[in-house]
Amino acid sequence: MSDVLIIGGGIVGLATAYELLRQGATVTLLERNRCGQESSWAGAGILSPLLPWDYPDAVTQLTQLSNQLYPEFIEAVRTETGIDPEYQATGMLVLTEQCSEPEARRLDARIRVAQAWCARFNFPMSRVRSHEVAPALSHDAAALWLSSVCQVRNPRLLQALMKAVELRGGVIVEDTEATRWNMAGGRVESVSTSRGEDHAAANYVVTAGAWSGRLLHQLALKLDIWPVRGQILLFRADPGLLDVIVLKEPEKFYLIPRRDGHILAGSTLEDAGFDKGPTAEAREMLLAKARALVPELNEDVLSAHWAGLRPGSPGNVPVIDHHPTIPNLYLNSGHYRYGVTMAPGSARLISNVISGAPQPIDITPYLWPV
Ligand SMILES: Cc1cc2nc3c(=O)[nH]c(=O)nc-3n(C[C@H](O)[C@H](O)[C@H](O)COP(=O)(O)OP(=O)(O)OC[C@H]3O[C@@H](n4cnc5c(N)ncnc54)[C@H](O)[C@@H]3O)c2cc1C
Repeated sequence: MSDVLIIGGGIVGLATAYELLRQGATVTLLERNRCGQESSWAGAGILSPLLPWDYPDAVTQLTQLSNQLYPEFIEAVRTETGIDPEYQATGMLVLTEQCSEPEARRLDARIRVAQAWCARFNFPMSRVRSHEVAPALSHDAAALWLSSVCQVRNPRLLQALMKAVELRGGVIVEDTEATRWNMAGGRVESVSTSRGEDHAAANYVVTAGAWSGRLLHQLALKLDIWPVRGQILLFRADPGLLDVIVLKEPEKFYLIPRRDGHILAGSTLEDAGFDKGPTAEAREMLLAKARALVPELNEDVLSAHWAGLRPGSPGNVPVIDHHPTIPNLYLNSGHYRYGVTMAPGSARLISNVISGAPQPIDITPYLWPV
């Protein structure tokens, strides 16, 4: 019997497994399909909120904790597995130029908010013309330059984490869906699965992303976590066409260059239930926006289009806590738009909740709602 059974093999579940193994626990992870194929794979890998000053302090402190942990986290999985997740500080250029007078006034107010936030959190930001940083853009526009924003190639990070978990002795059981909680004496005694086997552990952590609420439904818990569909396009381009992340305000459309020249363009925020089918409308909309920013990004070089389901949550604040009345049941879920960013920090917090170790930040904002 493992110390901890983790349910859900996305970035949050795998990072939690890795952190617990590093702290000396024994871990089994159950995944309904294959690990790292849902939202964590579909995401863009920007390691920052869009934009950080638009979010509550609960989001800021967790993303800042994660960003502090990221370099060491990446170095550890890269060394252990030989897989390079392409973690890099590409910076983010925020295009702010607007035309009409009321928009200009709104924009000035937003820039003042951004400047105050950056001063408060010692976050580097400067005002530039976009062509100084990204000459490939079709227009030279006023922009904000956030030089410290990093990105990671999330599918590679997921591969690396899976391998790192197994190398450290974690057991990953794929094609196995947790279907029922078996309770005894007010505690979880075991979890039944789609394969007809029960899995027992001392502790259980739910990291089932957009499906976390469904999984906990049997325990009559109405969790505020819901699916939010996001669609992305992938273009082939020559390396060097774009070297930085570009974010266009106010619609928050972004382009992300990978090291090999590929460029991602995203994304949508859609309420489509658990339907993760990509749509023709989103494809056309994203294609038009990408082409408007960088004319080379046209239909001829469009190589893929996909969608994923984010685990939506109020204020983008996840729950990282034990269940209010079931002492061996924990939740690490609801990371909404920033689960890749928040994964190392959330894994550290939930592992400390389980072990009783002191926390590096105030965890009150992430308590399980009652
Ligand atoms: C288009 C798009 C762009 C994004 N861009 C970014 C970004 O730039 N930066 C960022 O930080 N975040 C981004 N995100 C958000 C990020 O991807 C999510 O917040 C994150 O992936 C959530 O991770 P997760 O592990 O909780 O969920 P998932 O990756 O969805 O993993 C949950 C896993 O649980 C499994 N599961 C569910 N139910 C069960 C069950 N009963 N039994 C066993 N297994 C089960 C699922 O099969 C799945 O593998 C983006 C998301 C999308 C869709």
